[in-house]
Amino acid sequence: MPVGTLASVKGMPQDVLEELGVQILLGNTYHLYLRPGVETVRRMGGLHGFMSWDRAILTDSGGFQVFSLTELRKVSEEGVTFRSHLDGSSHFFSPESAMAAQIGLGADIIMAFDECTEYPADGQRARDSMELTLRWAERCKRYFEEHKHQVPWTHAESAELRSAGQPRAAVPTWAGATQVLFGIVQGGMDRELRRESASRTIDIGFPGYAIGGLSVGEPRELTRGIVASTLEHLPSDQPRYLMGVGTPEEIAHYAQSGVDMMDCVLPTRAARHGLLFTSEGKLSIKQARYAQDESALDPACDCRVCQRYSRAYLRHLYAANELLAQVLNTVHNLHYYLATMRTVRTWIRAGRASSTGVSRM
Ligand SMILES: [Zn+2]
Repeated sequence: MPVGTLASVKGMPQDVLEELGVQILLGNTYHLYLRPGVETVRRMGGLHGFMSWDRAILTDSGGFQVFSLTELRKVSEEGVTFRSHLDGSSHFFSPESAMAAQIGLGADIIMAFDECTEYPADGQRARDSMELTLRWAERCKRYFEEHKHQVPWTHAESAELRSAGQPRAAVPTWAGATQVLFGIVQGGMDRELRRESASRTIDIGFPGYAIGGLSVGEPRELTRGIVASTLEHLPSDQPRYLMGVGTPEEIAHYAQSGVDMMDCVLPTRAARHGLLFTSEGKLSIKQARYAQDESALDPACDCRVCQRYSRAYLRHLYAANELLAQVLNTVHNLHYYLATMRTVRTWIRAGRASSTGVSRM
């Protein structure tokens, strides 16, 4: 899932995303709540209507961003008080208000409000944090079940179809559809806590499960170990979502380990800094060695950038700080990530082991 923090994948018009084959985008509740505000988005039919995107959207709960504001937040049983990074104004997120915000934003998949346990955390701290996340998960589910009919597009679509004089039988089944709420497994870097968190989150009952609290500064090997041991305890017939990961090699590895969904700012953020992922490894287009290089960015890539422009031109755009540099670099990196996932899906369908030697589960 490419990351569209503020209802926009930076520099990418929606038709270009469609052309690239993006099936689902991630939006950040914390940022959208502060700007333009949930009510504005809700009135325009939710994120789908507001940003003119008919394909799927997932919103995070805001928890991860709020917990990143270490200097600006205060956690209690009830929720989290935090200060806006924009103007310093004070706000409060509880499991209930985070659900209300995500229902108003109207993504297809929304996430439980959890506490992202910091790294490193001692055993007691990781347990207390996991217990808080479990209590919050129950509150999220209760609120969601009571309010899910308030999602903006259910009303908008139904009303539109009714006013168009559609007979009842012609109203498609999705007209009454609601969002789905995923639970999040925490437990720090402790495998036993992860097992317990998975088991108790499953007991609460969600249609999909995320593995949260990783990529928070721990070594990559530790991330791999925790993901592998957590996956064993999550149902393989429901979506399993690994949050905030990773490099092209990592997403291929995790997908073949049984992860179904991932999101990461890396392809888009790296692109804006001139860092490009290619079939020959990472390439920093800002380097002077590319100033006279007439070859394509990645000769093995069939994206519209590699088909048309030279490394010399892309290097020039970057050095001259042209907006087009960010756009073209992002197009290529997103294409590279999406192509990686298309290859992984082909491997999975064919039931083959990956190039990294990891067997399909
Ligand atoms: Zn390309």
